[in-house]
Amino acid sequence: MKKTSDINETMSEIEENLPSREVLEQVLEGLLAAFREMPPKSPIFDPETGEQKLSEAFWFASEAHGAQKRKDGSPYITHPTSVAKLVIEMHLDEDAIRAALLHDVVEDTAIELDTIRKMFGDNVAEIVDGLTKISKIHFSSGKQAQHESVRKMLVAMTKDIRVIIIKIADRVHNMRTLQFQSPAKQLEKAQETLDIYAPLAHRLGMQKFKWELEDISMRYLHPEQYSEIEQSIKEKIAEIPDFFNTVEGLIEDSVQGLPFECRVKGRTKHVYSIYRKMLSQNKPFSEILDIFAFRIVISGTDPECFTILGRIHNSFRPIPGTFKDYISYPKPNGYQSLHTTVLKNGVPFEIQIRTEEMDAAAEQGISAHWKYKAGVTKSGDEADYAWVRRLVESFEEEDPDESIDTLKMDMFSDQVLVLTPQGDVRIMPTGATPIDFAYAIHSKIGNSMTGAKVNGAIVSIRHPLKSGDIVEILRSKTEKGPSRDWLNIIKTSEARNKIRLWFKQERREENITHGKASFESELKKSGFSLQEFTGADALPELLKKLGYPTADDFFAAIGYGGISSQRSLNKIREELLAAKKESLKAQLGAHGADLPEPPVPPKPRKNRSSMGVIIEGQDDCLVKFAKCCSPLPGDEIIGFTTRGFGVSIHRADCKNYIKSAQNAENNGRWLSAAWDMDSIKNEGFTAALKIFSMRNDGIVNDITSLLRSLKVRYVSIAAKDTPDGGAFTEITVADIKPEMLDTLTRRIGELDGVYRVDR
Ligand code: MN
Repeated sequence: MKKTSDINETMSEIEENLPSREVLEQVLEGLLAAFREMPPKSPIFDPETGEQKLSEAFWFASEAHGAQKRKDGSPYITHPTSVAKLVIEMHLDEDAIRAALLHDVVEDTAIELDTIRKMFGDNVAEIVDGLTKISKIHFSSGKQAQHESVRKMLVAMTKDIRVIIIKIADRVHNMRTLQFQSPAKQLEKAQETLDIYAPLAHRLGMQKFKWELEDISMRYLHPEQYSEIEQSIKEKIAEIPDFFNTVEGLIEDSVQGLPFECRVKGRTKHVYSIYRKMLSQNKPFSEILDIFAFRIVISGTDPECFTILGRIHNSFRPIPGTFKDYISYPKPNGYQSLHTTVLKNGVPFEIQIRTEEMDAAAEQGISAHWKYKAGVTKSGDEADYAWVRRLVESFEEEDPDESIDTLKMDMFSDQVLVLTPQGDVRIMPTGATPIDFAYAIHSKIGNSMTGAKVNGAIVSIRHPLKSGDIVEILRSKTEKGPSRDWLNIIKTSEARNKIRLWFKQERREENITHGKASFESELKKSGFSLQEFTGADALPELLKKLGYPTADDFFAAIGYGGISSQRSLNKIREELLAAKKESLKAQLGAHGADLPEPPVPPKPRKNRSSMGVIIEGQDDCLVKFAKCCSPLPGDEIIGFTTRGFGVSIHRADCKNYIKSAQNAENNGRWLSAAWDMDSIKNEGFTAALKIFSMRNDGIVNDITSLLRSLKVRYVSIAAKDTPDGGAFTEITVADIKPEMLDTLTRRIGELDGVYRVDR
């Protein structure tokens, strides 16, 4: 029990930690200044009451967060305030700005949504509610194909697109301050941003934020490549003296004398877009054409953009095939401009031509529409959101410029995305029931299921699940087992197999008989009899090694397919051999010493000399795979003659190769190479996986037992704890076939706490 004096001490401690009134007033003043500079252009904005309303939300939020602090030590309220400033920059309305100020209140403090509703109205409360819900979803990484679906679900779950925009602003601020988080958190957040939020910003046409999010993420995920590209850009700029001013001047000269204003502004394309181009086009930095972009924004009309284009092509040499007309054919996110790439002094750069209106739309995306919608409609709400709905619909369209993710969208059209009560996303086929869901999580959950709740209400076990449903499985303490008619209700083969397995395990006697027969024949193949196992003095030790309490349990496990006879025998082979020797010795007395060794059946050995690769002019040479780029079958590859370690295989787009090939010293050491697909199909190949997890206890064990259950051989495994309790694990697997590598990568990604798996 705490004494009163202690409590008083605690209270004053809290008070000491409270940010001072002056500090808070300064923060608020910064917000109001931003607001005055860029008042919302929405029809529902009332300049009279705006500042007052913002201040109320600010003081309410700062009181609610109290002594909470950001990781950098500043008062917590600085975060929602920064998010609100970004929302102001995006030209959103006053409700959105207030919701941004309040966005973490329900999630992180004792305040309930109803209080927000009473004080700030339904609109603000709905947005805060949407933001709170999203913050509870965990986007587990390592499941590439799911990202598009997760993004779509986010949008579908959110009735109000302002929720997504504020969420993006929230992420922008969190990424800007990511240096204060632990290294593991940094990697996790950076990956999630790249997978979920940057593409969302892109789809909403918010290019500026998309670029920023991508570049920050890349700085954490690929720091070396980031600084390398940054350095190359600097070197490129040095090729033309006073690069940006010079080229801007040249462009201005070429568009002289037109009856409208032209603004010219040059910039470097963002690092991540260059990086992605190098990867996808398999090109070194020197071959990437659009490192620089110059934008001409005109006060004229759409057709006048083409006039400018004519002038530009007169003054600069255009590179054939680079012209794109996004004015006549806007991108699905509404983006409009003319693009062309031209050359000056051997330096290529892209020129974008657009009107003021197109420019605003490109920079701020949908939020720019507020500006041009102003005064057009009545009292806000639904009518204002017609364009938002069109935008959401555009999510369904495919952008030819998009990454492969989009192409996978179709695969998910017959699937629903549901959430566990912890917020984990699960993909289920359309029509899946709570039973399917339970078995998808774990057989134990399915086998002990008694009922289910969807979104907090009890439903029938036949209830078809919808995207966005939060599903909770009600369970009995014991595994009472499935009911036979569940087999008629379920939709997934996973649930079917697991239910069948349960009934199989129930038929124990039958399983024991089958298992015994199977193990006996395995023993015979190796020159043992069943009696030598069941009658062995060491039987209890043998069973212990196999992991079963009795011989019947062991046979039953083989019988229902839980373990394989062959693997089990391998585990105890040495012991059986030793026992056999002993008993032969005993039978033959003194002559025992001269006995030949009992025959040991040969273990299958694979010819690993070629490792599935054919190399120009080399037969049977020593081959290893370069760690820097871990080539996989199907990748274009190239071999490098090392000094003394045979040939190391790199991907043709490996940056080390690109660098080294430019060095004349290495002439002749690079050999062309190709995969021997036939041998890979039969023999498999060697691959390395890098696994990032949020925990380090037992992760190696989980990975190795997964490897065992998939019967994948591994040649090395190394794990390193990260300072925040996570781990980085590297494994090298051998003789693995391409499909199995896919399965293995996916299954590791599904392990508890694993947030990223890289090949
Ligand atoms: Mn936040």
